[in-house]
Amino acid sequence: MGDNGSEVRVFVRIRPTASFAQELIQYLPDGQTINISQRRDSKRGVVNNQLSSWSFPMNGVLHDVSQEDVYNTVAHKVVLGALEGYNGTVMCFGQTGAGKTFTMTGATESYKQRGLIPRAIQQVFSEVENRQNYSFTIHLSYLEIYNEMLVDLLSSVRGTRAGLGGLAVVEEAGGGVSVKGLSLHSVHNEEEALNLLFEGEMNRIIGSHAMNKNSSRSHCIFTIYIESRSRTLSDARYITSKLHLVDLAGSERLGKTGSEGQVQKEAMCINRSLSFLEQAILALADRRREHVPFRQSKLTHALRDSLGGNCNTVLVANIYGEAAQIEETLSTLRFASRMK
Ligand code: ADP
Ligand code: MG
Repeated sequence: MGDNGSEVRVFVRIRPTASFAQELIQYLPDGQTINISQRRDSKRGVVNNQLSSWSFPMNGVLHDVSQEDVYNTVAHKVVLGALEGYNGTVMCFGQTGAGKTFTMTGATESYKQRGLIPRAIQQVFSEVENRQNYSFTIHLSYLEIYNEMLVDLLSSVRGTRAGLGGLAVVEEAGGGVSVKGLSLHSVHNEEEALNLLFEGEMNRIIGSHAMNKNSSRSHCIFTIYIESRSRTLSDARYITSKLHLVDLAGSERLGKTGSEGQVQKEAMCINRSLSFLEQAILALADRRREHVPFRQSKLTHALRDSLGGNCNTVLVANIYGEAAQIEETLSTLRFASRMK
């Protein structure tokens, strides 16, 4: 990791269903089977029924796996990389209801079921404790992208200076990007960070009610900014990095009938931004390609300095276990495997 070009690691997580058997086979009423598994030899996932068979390259299949194991498989190394100065991005992709938010944030009422964000916060602070030779400064931000509009989910936090004018992605000298007007919050321990996450989650819900939108129609980017300075006089190391934890908007194709106005606009924005995300990642993987289309959407623009290159990028494709969702599942797996 860190030096292997723009490879994206791709994992599939299957939402548990009562009927889903251990060996990942589900029987359809007419006797067809769907089988999604990771073949030991080739690291390919296989989906098949009696009529068709699909095979997808991926780094792992997460089925019947605890939140802790999901964290250790997909995020642990990315967090270690961020502490060493490598930007990282972990994204959850998939249709609404497939488990993206459960994977990213987890069930707030249960400690055991907490997701990648609270666990990443915990790991960051425990690693900081173990690195007494360095002095660390940690900041957080929480950005929502809805219909190509940027929303600060932590603007309500006390002491935050209200951004003047709208938020905007700006490019910095040296290739970095930042979001102008987005509030950054200094945090000194896990509890402070979790309180901000909680506040952001509340604002996400309140905002979606206020705007009469479904919360699955927006992308949410929780970012941990890490700065470290050596305490040793002979070592002038000063390192900065960003870790983005991204809960992407639902990828489902919305039915043409009945979708109009707001819903149609949302669908168009989501389709476009997910398609630009794919194009950006594919362009990064293609070394001959000189132009990477980052600026075409707010999502890719905001993630510009944290995808590909020296960054650790992980995509979790969340899918349903139910056979009834096979069309969306295949479309999610196709998207995910193209990133590989
Ligand atoms: P999404 O964010 O993709 O729309 P959610 O994360 O909100 O989907 O998941 C939908 C529902 O399924 C939630 O009630 C969630 O708690 C539950 N769920 C999703 N994945 C799992 C899982 N791996 N184990 C248990 N419950 C899950
Ligand atoms: Mg969700």
